[in-house]
Amino acid sequence: MKTRAALMREPGRLEVAELDVEEPRPDEVLVRMVAVGVCGTDLHSYKGEWNRPTPIVLGHEGTGIVEAVGGDVDGVSEGDRVVLSWAPSCGECGACRRGRPAACVPLSTAIGRGTLLGGHTGLSLGGETVYRGTATGALAEHVVVAAGAALPLAADVPLEHAALLGCAALTGVGAVLNAARPERGFSALVIGAGGVGQFVVQGARIAGAAAVLVVDPVESRREQALRLGATHAFGPDDVREALRAFDPEGVDYAFDAVGAPETTALALRWTRGGGTTVVVGLPAAGARLDLDPLDFTNREKTLTGTIYGSEDPAVALPQLLELVRSGELELASLVGPSFPLERADDAFQASLAGSPGRVLVTP
Ligand SMILES: [Zn+2]
Ligand SMILES: [Zn+2]
Repeated sequence: MKTRAALMREPGRLEVAELDVEEPRPDEVLVRMVAVGVCGTDLHSYKGEWNRPTPIVLGHEGTGIVEAVGGDVDGVSEGDRVVLSWAPSCGECGACRRGRPAACVPLSTAIGRGTLLGGHTGLSLGGETVYRGTATGALAEHVVVAAGAALPLAADVPLEHAALLGCAALTGVGAVLNAARPERGFSALVIGAGGVGQFVVQGARIAGAAAVLVVDPVESRREQALRLGATHAFGPDDVREALRAFDPEGVDYAFDAVGAPETTALALRWTRGGGTTVVVGLPAAGARLDLDPLDFTNREKTLTGTIYGSEDPAVALPQLLELVRSGELELASLVGPSFPLERADDAFQASLAGSPGRVLVTP
């Protein structure tokens, strides 16, 4: 069959092309995409900061409706609403055995090679292989993925809102609830109030933070963070003054939702002695940290990281949906501008420009 997709032939530009799609294999499903969020991971590829094969279809955070299932699939059926997970893991490697499918070794290889977990892409254009961003390639009208990558979504959450659950919410909320696991009454610093950062803020509120300090250069993002549970928000130039005024020793937990070496250094700097720095955002390829070992000896800080919320998405998604239903987790106000597939390139530009709210493409 054919599908229209946002194709990146080289970094910095997306264009719509009609691709050939292989029929679903026995363990795969065909999903008609309804909403796809633009994630920082997509932007790394778009900016050429990661080495990915091209032409490639980016996008990995989305929702849609199952249109066909392979013969061996029994978890989802035609007509089901689903949230895509980008971690349909092998189930056998060390990471999978300890319940971290997003850290699955064969999955990491597939993501680097621009394929699905099985090593194929199932996509081509005029006989040329087309690759898949983050083992998914969701920026298309139709997507074939492993059945394990299509997680059922109940009817009470709009598909446009639920798209954010697929990566930003799982990542941001999980960074607090599963990776940091703080005691109630803690203080948190969140660096970066983009899509993931806003969910870190909400995760901190849900976990019972006494104070949530947010740093972001964009005022509208700071305002949004304050509405979602932040107690303090300031721009990068005011970090030192604001943190000193709050507590010169720093915070219990500092979350770097950006992932650049300088933001991770900032998070570690303002983590108090005995506290924990959690790296949530992904760095550009080749990034390196300059660390002071005394932070870990004399000051007993912990520096750790988290991928995809440090939990199996199939386990974490139903938990997030419960938080949405109880009103604790806000989705609607985090949805930003939405663009049709033809304007996927504009969507990426809007996201790069720091649009408040998650930019969506609605294929
Ligand atoms: Zn993502
Ligand atoms: Zn694995």
